[in-house]
This record gives sequence, structure tokens and C-alpha cells, in this order.
Amino acid sequence: MNVAVKSADKPKGEHKTPQVIKKVGIIGAGQMGTGIAHVIALSGYSVALNDLKKERVDESVRTIEKFMNRLAEKGLIESEDVAPALKRIDFAPSFDSFGDCDLVIEAATEEEGLKRKIFTDVCSYLKPGTLLATNTSSISITRLASTTDRPEHFIGMHFMNPVPLMELVELIRGIATDDETFTITKSFVESLHKTVAVSEDFPAFIVNRILLPMINEAVYTLYEGVGTVEMIDKAMKLGAHHPMGPLELADFIGLDTCLSVMQVLYEGLSDSKYRPCPLLVKYVEAGWLGRKTKRGFYDYRGETPIPTR
Ligand code: NAD
Repeated sequence: MNVAVKSADKPKGEHKTPQVIKKVGIIGAGQMGTGIAHVIALSGYSVALNDLKKERVDESVRTIEKFMNRLAEKGLIESEDVAPALKRIDFAPSFDSFGDCDLVIEAATEEEGLKRKIFTDVCSYLKPGTLLATNTSSISITRLASTTDRPEHFIGMHFMNPVPLMELVELIRGIATDDETFTITKSFVESLHKTVAVSEDFPAFIVNRILLPMINEAVYTLYEGVGTVEMIDKAMKLGAHHPMGPLELADFIGLDTCLSVMQVLYEGLSDSKYRPCPLLVKYVEAGWLGRKTKRGFYDYRGETPIPTR
């Protein structure tokens, strides 16, 4: 299903927004870019998926295929939809492949300098009306938008992990985002069978403003010796009915992403209550980033995860 949005008598400006989203470019084929490509392709859109290396995109498509097949086995999607959806995903070796995209979603590593460079570079390859979105977990949408030639067509589109299973997408307008961009992206998100929550553009938005300080506090609880990894996770699962313990969840999100979000909160709100735990910093410095590197608060190299503290 593609989104058709009625455009009233808009002035024909240089940056006229597209009335229909058919093709979507995605920058970054990590865990989020992979999940985003999965749901977008399954909803009938064409996808151009870009990463630094082709192998990452190949790996991403393999992951999507496995995940879709698992969902089909469980009866959650139609098995005959899997092959056509996979066919709709193409490797984009460079931003050149985004020339016919109506929307480009950036889902690269959570580092402001890197994202700024991506947005500065990508604009010259896009049609005038192409919308730009970022999946950042925490960085200012207004600041990222200001690096582009189209801040009025720029929006925060924050998917949750794992994307195929999570219902919510936060939409965050920057100071310049226009109403048409908001309306089109909201219809687009709803066409993916997701529900929108609107957040103002403040550090980490809604979900991560609440979730990440809780995770950071769990790491302090470990750092100060109040509990072991196992006890902290067990306590929050059985005592607060969280489906995953906070340290298990931190490993799932990626400890580099968790640290970046805490740094954005700490610097953006100038409040010491957001100080990243030194133990979280140490894990990231060691390259123990959680599941994606097979080691974090748990060691995933064997059959069952083993706590590392
Ligand atoms: P990840 O580490 O799994 O993937 C990041 C990908 O970006 C990697 O494949 C990397 O090669 C690629 N990349 C880096 N620089 C690039 C460039 N210049 N051009 C193209 N690709 C580039 O990270 P992730 O967990 O997928 O996070 C991606 C984004 O999504 C971040 O902004 C993060 O904050 C956000 N996010 C993450 C979660 C989560 O739970 N992990 C949830 C919501 C949003």
C-alpha cells in the first residue's frame, strides 16, 4: 500500500513535496535500518538500502528473510508476501541511488558528526521534493535539519527496536518542519501499521528520555555493587514485570547507543542526574557493545548468555 496525500493548491516552490511515497531510501543497514527496510518493503514500497559496505546490506537482507519467514510460520504475515517484499529491497551502493526516492530515512550510527556529514552529502543527490527523516534516538531534529537544504521537509521518525514487532513510532518536528511533511510522514507511518506518538524536539524525545535514565541507573546499581547483573535483571523482570531486565535490554539496544543517548541528555539538559555511568563508558571503550558484538553485560558467544559481572 502506498500513501497518497492530497495536496491543496500549494505554491509550486522549488521544494514541492511528493504527493505519493513509492520509493524509500534508507541509510544504515544495522539493526534499525534492517527492521525499517523489513516493514517498509512488506507494506509495498520499494526500498534502496545503503551502508558503508555491501556485505552489511547482504547480511541485512538475510536477516530480513529469516525474520519474515519466522513471522509467516507463526501466521503473523502471509507466506506469499515474503518473496515479493524481498524483491523490493535493492542495495544502494551510494547516495546516487536515491535520485528517485520520495523519502530518505537515515538510520546510521548515533553520532552527531557522522549524521551531519550524511545529511550534508545526501541532499545534492535528491529530487527537490524528497522528504528527509532521521531515526536518531536523541539528537536535536532542528540541528540535524539545519545541515540540509530542506529543513521544512525534515522530520524525526523514531522507530522502536525490534521494528517489525513494536507498534510505536515517535514523530518529532524540528522548528522548521512544515505541516505537509508532518501529514505525509504520519500517513506513511500509519500505512506501515504503526501508531504515532508526537514528541517535541527535546533531547531523547519521550521514550528514551524515560527509558535510558532507567537503564543508566541499572548500570549504576551494578557499578556500586548493589546487585549483580543477574540479580538486577531478575529484580526488574519479576518485581516490576518488565519483559526484559534493564541490562539485558541495554545489550539489545547496543551499549554505544545507550551511552550516546545519555551524553545527549547530560549535555542537552545540563543536569547531573543524566551523568552516564562510568561503567557504561568502560564497556563501550572495551568494544563490548552488547548483542551486536557478542559481549556486553552478558557474554553471548556460547549457547546461553553468561553475565560478565
Ligand atoms: P547499528 O550499529 O546496528 O547500525 C548502524 C549502521 O550504520 C551500521 O551498519 C554502520 O555501518 C552504518 N553506518 C555508519 N556510518 C554510515 C555512513 N556514513 N553511511 C551509511 N551507513 C553508515 O546501530 P542501530 O542500533 O541500527 O542504530 C541506528 C540508529 O537508530 C541510531 O541513530 C540509533 O540511535 C537509532 N535507534 C536505535 C535503536 C536501538 O534499539 N538500537 C532504537 C531506535 C533508534
